[in-house]
Amino acid sequence: MKTREQWIELKNNLNIENRAYINGEYSSAMGGDTLDVINPATNETITQIARCQSEDVDLAVKCARQAFQQGLWSNRSPAQRKAVLNQFANLIESHREELALLETLDTGKPIAHSFSTDIPGAANTLRWYAEAIDKVYGEVAPTEKDVHAFISHQAIGVVAAIVPWNFPLWLACWKLGPALAAGNSVILKPSEKSSLTAIYLGQLASQAGLPNGVFQVVTGFGHEAGDALAKHQDVDCIAFTGSTRIAGQLMISAGESNLKRVFAEAGGKNANIVFEDCDDLDRAAAETAAGCFYNQGEVCVAATRLLVHESIKDRFVDKVISAAQAFMPKDPLDTESSMGALIDQEHKAKVLDYIALGQAEGAVLRCGGDVTGVGAFVEPTILDNVDNKMRVAQEEIFGPVLCVIPFKDEAQAIAIANDSKYGLGAALWSSNINRVHRVAKQLEAGSVWVNNYNEGDMTVPFGGFKMSGNGRDKSLHAIEKFTETKTTWIRLHP
Ligand code: NAD
Repeated sequence: MKTREQWIELKNNLNIENRAYINGEYSSAMGGDTLDVINPATNETITQIARCQSEDVDLAVKCARQAFQQGLWSNRSPAQRKAVLNQFANLIESHREELALLETLDTGKPIAHSFSTDIPGAANTLRWYAEAIDKVYGEVAPTEKDVHAFISHQAIGVVAAIVPWNFPLWLACWKLGPALAAGNSVILKPSEKSSLTAIYLGQLASQAGLPNGVFQVVTGFGHEAGDALAKHQDVDCIAFTGSTRIAGQLMISAGESNLKRVFAEAGGKNANIVFEDCDDLDRAAAETAAGCFYNQGEVCVAATRLLVHESIKDRFVDKVISAAQAFMPKDPLDTESSMGALIDQEHKAKVLDYIALGQAEGAVLRCGGDVTGVGAFVEPTILDNVDNKMRVAQEEIFGPVLCVIPFKDEAQAIAIANDSKYGLGAALWSSNINRVHRVAKQLEAGSVWVNNYNEGDMTVPFGGFKMSGNGRDKSLHAIEKFTETKTTWIRLHP
């Protein structure tokens, strides 16, 4: 990987594209409006991106529909789509440095993470679906003798992928991979806070061989471009990752327009339960800290609620405090940085308000808090003796704040873990196999990790119970969202 000085040199020579990508070419918003892109680590303005409105969305949807109906992509064989998507993944890999740098400048996340995890993760996702799509079969129904009935899955049409700012390119590819592989036309609407890598993707898509209109990028605000997509009569499906509040709004918009399918990956307030019979507390502490502080805590499945048995609580929290030191914020372009800046000043203020609120509610601040200076930095923060009823334990802070909640026995741990409107992820640490199965079964979460926090790869589905969303990203299950299921019933005459 490059040194900090080399990253800065690349930054100084970077020609940043800032327009939307519609029908195979870059274009400004029709209204000519733009919005500023700020580097949250330095407060410098990086560029101004197109502020698209409903007329830009109308054009993108029209092009997407045309491409779909012409069958330029949707009627290609799965093997042909696979070849193009593999090439798309190759191009992301060969432009890894520029993409990693854009991701870090735009979001404040450490360059080491953008370069080693986010961008390769995005390419790997596209490749996984490229390789999967020509191995998916339909079904033949077990009907009576004179009937042949089969069940097939066909592309749904025009998909809008609306994604957040915490893993901009990677999470976009969680939608693009299965949606494009299945033959849909996709319009990507990145967060207004992190659009640069999505924009960059436009030219790579065309270079890879995706026909015009099959992959487009519409930039701008959620309440403008995003809302126009959500209410559009000719969008068939919204694949959303973001907050629970906006997920609800999208469902209303779908209900009030054309009943488009809405699949939402939303918020989380995840319980990480450490039992007294955990046989490796050092490892549990290290993974607890990483689980909560990785990506500045801006992770939907962050391990934000640490439920720890009262008999080991003090000893364990001391270990977590020392593990948290590995996440002291640094310049994101410093290759040693493992914690960068939060997404913007507004979000930093919100996180600091929650830290103050937790203390006002009775929690004890064990470490962390504000970092003074221009950037949006906050230290890894631990609030001890939190009660699960407190707002800091119930609401998603989406920053580097760990709430420690002691418990007395297994039943209480499960009750506390499930006492949340969210149900995205949960973990438990125990060396007792009976307890592992007993507890894992009762946790209301889409992913349960045992003796690890947040491991997984493309082979497993990801998504939430309750208000953490519906549908699943990753694995073959994700393809279901982007296809219609069709029954064909044929009466056979003798
Ligand atoms: P957000 O809901 O504010 O925005 C997400 C996207 O929706 C953005 O592109 C935004 O522009 C768009 N949007 C906003 N208002 C809209 C509207 N009225 N109509 C249409 N689109 C609109 O979320 P955020 O702040 O960008 O991201 C943080 C949230 O994302 C957290 O709640 C986090 O838990 C969640 N998240 C969930 C997952 C998951 O897989 N479950 C993963 C990452 C992030």
